Parts: sequence; C-alpha cells; structure tokens
Amino acid sequence: MSTFQAPKGTYDLTPPRSATFLAVREAIAAPLRDSGYGYIETPGFENVELFARGVGESTDIVTKEMYTLTTKGGDQLALRPEGTASVLRAALESNLHKAGNLPVKLWYSGSYYRYERPQAGRYRHFSQVGAEAIGTEDPVLDAELIILADQAYRSLGLRQFRILLNSLGDKECRPVYREALQTFLRDLDLDEETRRRIEINPLRVLDDKRADVQKQLTDAPKLRDYLCDACKAYHEEVRALLTAAGVVFEDDEKLVRGLDYYTRTTFEFVHDGLGAQSAVGGGGRYDGLSEMIGGPELPSVGWALGVDRTVLALEAEGIELDLPYATSVYAVPLGEEARRVLFGVVTGLRRAGIAADFAFGGRGLKGAMKSANRSGARYALVAGERDLAEGVVQLKDMESGEQSAVPLTEVAAELAKRLG
Ligand code: ATP
Ligand code: MG
Repeated sequence: MSTFQAPKGTYDLTPPRSATFLAVREAIAAPLRDSGYGYIETPGFENVELFARGVGESTDIVTKEMYTLTTKGGDQLALRPEGTASVLRAALESNLHKAGNLPVKLWYSGSYYRYERPQAGRYRHFSQVGAEAIGTEDPVLDAELIILADQAYRSLGLRQFRILLNSLGDKECRPVYREALQTFLRDLDLDEETRRRIEINPLRVLDDKRADVQKQLTDAPKLRDYLCDACKAYHEEVRALLTAAGVVFEDDEKLVRGLDYYTRTTFEFVHDGLGAQSAVGGGGRYDGLSEMIGGPELPSVGWALGVDRTVLALEAEGIELDLPYATSVYAVPLGEEARRVLFGVVTGLRRAGIAADFAFGGRGLKGAMKSANRSGARYALVAGERDLAEGVVQLKDMESGEQSAVPLTEVAAELAKRLG
C-alpha cells in the first residue's frame, strides 16, 4: 500500500474538479434556501441506536453498510450512513417542532459513510445534500420537494434524468399488502437470505437487483391495488400537483427504496447515463419515523441527493458548468522592492473585494506569467524597479494582451472600474 493512497472506496476532491462539487452542492441548496428551508448541521456520528431504530434493523444500511465503533468510554457510535434520522433527532432535541411553525423545513449538506463494495458511483465515503420538511402532512409539501429537486437538476443543465414515483401506503393499508406479498413470495424459488427477508421486510425483496429474482416478481401483488382511499387520494393529489408544475414523472409500482421508514409518497431520481448506480437521489414521506425514535407523531417528508453521482451525471451528459475563475487579478513582481509594493497592492485589492493572487517565490517573468495565465485572471499587474521609480505598475489585460502603465495610487480604482 502506498503511503499516499486514500482508503479503499474513497477519493479526494482536488482542484479543479472540486470546484464542480462545490457548484453542485450550491445548485442543489439554492432552491431550498429560496423556499424557506433553514440550514442544519449535525455530527458526523451518532449513537448506533438511532440508526438501528430510525433506519431499520432489516436494511442493508444497518446490517451490512454501517461503520460502527466503540469509544474508549464504551459508547457505541456509528458514522452516519444517511441524514434523515440525524436531522429528525436534532429537530426533536432542539424542540424545533414546538416553536409553533410547522412544517420545520431544513436542509443539510455533508459526508456520509457506508461500507459498500466500491464501484463506479458507489463509494464508502460520499456526499449528499438533503432536505426535510417535518411535522406536516400535506401533498403540496411532497410536491414542493420533488419540484425543488427537479429545479436543482435542471439549473445544472441536466436533462437525462427521470423521476420515479410511487406510494407505499400507510399504517392502515400497508400491513394488508405486506401479508399478501409475503404469501406470494414464500412460494418462490429464493435463497436463504432472501427468504429471511420475506419475513422481516418483504417489500425490500421487490428492490432486489438480481435478474433471476426480478423475473419471478412479475406477478407479485401490486401495492397500488391495496392502497386505502386516503392514501389513493393523497397520491393522486401529489401527481396532479407535479403535473400542474410541468414536472414529468413515471409511476413505478416496484419502487420501494432501501429504508424501512417510508410511508405514502416515495420517489427516486435516476440518471440514464450512469450505468448500474443510476440513482442520483431519492426520498419520500416518513410519517412513522419520529415515533420510531421515541418522538411524538410528526408526519414528514424529505429527500437526499447524491453529490458524487450528480457530478458523474454532469460528466455523462458532457456538461461543463460555467464556473467563473476564482482569481481576477494576478500580481507579478520583479525584484525585492516590487515584491513588497505589489503584495501591498494585492492586500488592498483583496480588502476591496477584488480576488487577487500573487507570484510567490521570486520567480522570473516568464514562469510567473505562466502562472498568471493558469490562474484565469483577467488582469496581470507587473512591476519592476523602473516602474516603481516612476510610481506606476504595468496593467495587462490578459484577454487582449493590451498593456498600460497605471499610477500605483490609482491601480485599485482602475481595476474596480474595469472589473465592473
Ligand atoms: P443505491 O440503491 O444506489 O444503493 P440508496 O437507495 O442506498 O442508493 P439513498 O440511501 O436513497 O441511496 O441515498 C440517496 C442518494 O445518495 C443516492 O441516490 C445516491 O445518489 C447517493 N448514494 C447512496 N449511497 C452512495 C454511495 N455508496 N456512494 C455514492 N453515492 C451514494
Ligand atoms: Mg444503497
């Protein structure tokens, strides 16, 4: 193992690609911020119990994918595998739901950890931006979240994604369906582990990725046929709201998602350019989660979008985000005296809000101008002994190549004017 190798299933974000990641996070967050969602940040780890109860003991996430650890003090912790349970825990702990302003709308952004088999688009450390709307049952809220995710993807220029939509029913109708499904599944030719899953979490079997399993599921009972009237009406309302907003979606009866706590509306965003790891985001309503972790009844809905896969989706569609260069002005001093003077100019520019960088290390003109070019700066400031003696610096427009002498005292104002 090389000393410089990141752990298996992880990778580093480095410039210039890291700028795309930041832009994607920002693009997903922007519609949320503009829609009344407040920022929340929770620890990178929680008591393992929270995920066991809040994500579900029968899910892959909890049984196979969670990084758990025992602290020196004996606490059982887990690196967070997902965001919803933590956000709800934090909202309850801070009594946000009691402030009399429901729903509590929150957004978050951060790192998540799952011990998975690493492959393209599947990592052990990945990044999500998520949103949760806590404490209200209203189809408009479900629709709002789906519309905002759609808006975020579109703002990035993504087009080859699809929205899959389903309803999982509620505590009235889901148990009836669950039993019908179990009866059907027990007669199939399945391996031991899957047979166990039938008894613990039969809906998850519908999510099985293997072709031979999927083939046997063709005639499985459909949840749609079991939805109670309230769930049906709710789902129809969500569908109508999306249609009215011009958001195209596909009904997907087999969409059950990996987590135990979803009720009613469930959805996934898939991208057709990503191969096997096609889900770029997903979410849904989780009316029972709060009670499951010991809180009051708080019907809620949310989603999490994967930043890593969204970046891969951009690459798959050949989209290059129009990212402005970070540096506007690059200063190239020639000689000791010029170094001090130009560094003073750069400091002044920065304080005036103009992004400026500097050729460090006393390099020659040629090498320094190469760095100026690479920085993407629109203007270079060059000064040598003779310029300083005359009280000027050379201001070079890197686009046109035009160069003019500007009095030192006027450089900042001149650049501010030219950069608009
Ligand atoms: P999958 O079916 O691909 O395992 P999931 O259902 O486990 O996805 P969620 O728990 O819904 O995924 O997480 C939401 C999003 O987070 C996913 O759509 C995906 O974009 C991203 N994501 C989940 N797991 C990983 C991972 N191991 N590596 C990179 N991104 C991930
Ligand atoms: Mg998964």
